[in-house]
Amino acid sequence: MLNIRYELTKNPKAKPAADDPLRFGTIFTDHMFVMNYETGKGWFDARIVPYGEISLDPSAMVFHYGQEMFEGMKAYRTEDNRVLLFRPYKNAERANNSNKRLCMPQIPEEDFVEACKAVVKVDQDWIPTKPGTSLYIRPFMIATDPFLGVRVSDTYLFIVILSPVGPYYAEGLNPVKIWIEDEYVRAVKGGIGEAKTGGNYVASLAAQVKAHDEGYSQVLWLDGRERKYIEEVGAMNIFFKINGTIVTPMLNGSILPGVTRNSVIEVCKSWGLPVEERRISVDELVEAGRTGALEECFGSGTAAVISPVSHLRFENEVFKIGDGGIGPVSQKLYDTITGIQLGKIADDRNWTVEVK
Ligand SMILES: *Cc1c(COP(=O)(O)O)cnc(C)c1O
Repeated sequence: MLNIRYELTKNPKAKPAADDPLRFGTIFTDHMFVMNYETGKGWFDARIVPYGEISLDPSAMVFHYGQEMFEGMKAYRTEDNRVLLFRPYKNAERANNSNKRLCMPQIPEEDFVEACKAVVKVDQDWIPTKPGTSLYIRPFMIATDPFLGVRVSDTYLFIVILSPVGPYYAEGLNPVKIWIEDEYVRAVKGGIGEAKTGGNYVASLAAQVKAHDEGYSQVLWLDGRERKYIEEVGAMNIFFKINGTIVTPMLNGSILPGVTRNSVIEVCKSWGLPVEERRISVDELVEAGRTGALEECFGSGTAAVISPVSHLRFENEVFKIGDGGIGPVSQKLYDTITGIQLGKIADDRNWTVEVK
């Protein structure tokens, strides 16, 4: 149990207008959760304070050596006015796996979830209600020792901020074009690909810029050693439907284990669809694309939930998947998972956690 101190704002901000598109990650609520860590002392001074700037020494280690972890999940307002989180203990568990890899302190899972719930509760009037909207929750931890040497920091800040977000794509589900990257790599086995940390994102920017310049919205990464096996999309995991089977790369140490990925696998299995988690070579994918065996392709992640893929480009070949529209499995998964998140579909697996 955290002992949270509340210092609520005296100047609440105006909430976004009902017709605001709530562009992802641009609007922040009135409060944030903050707590400190010091070696020997543990976590202390858990507090909910007005959202605002934080002051750090310019030599704070996070700025120089990237000791940073983040998470991402959402809070949803149901039709009967409850507030639900989706599988937050999965995020808490993953945060600690990231923390371990990055030599950062563990946060008890209960405390992680309690911190998220507490700040969502304070700012629950910020949860938008239009279809496809939600309150994005961004917990993160940074190393704060003022020191320019390379070692593990002794002090950290753990912060949770909130951002009301609209549907990831303005028109609902919207197929995207994906670029299979064969020059740059995102992560290698033994590296930090499995951790949710800024370093993996900075490694991905150059390829993202290149793909954008070519008219592609996302990069699909190949493995860092042979550049032969499909990994993930960098902010989403990737799924294919090949000859009726749902196929996704197995977790191999360099792929981020997505909560949405895990949910997609469980839901597909419950429908009786064959699901394979295995190595998929880009050659196999290209072959399936050429013959038409590749029936659907979609990304999975908290932000977009399911993101259908209409085109894949590898080297100089472009594959249109199906008719370039939204495949039936992609649509059904989107409807089912968002239905559970919004409390519209029975939550038989106890995935949702109510904030009250
Ligand atoms: C967060 C993230 C995902 C998606 O994970 P979810 O838990 O489903 O949101 C996939 N890949 C990377 C690299 C990520 O950082």
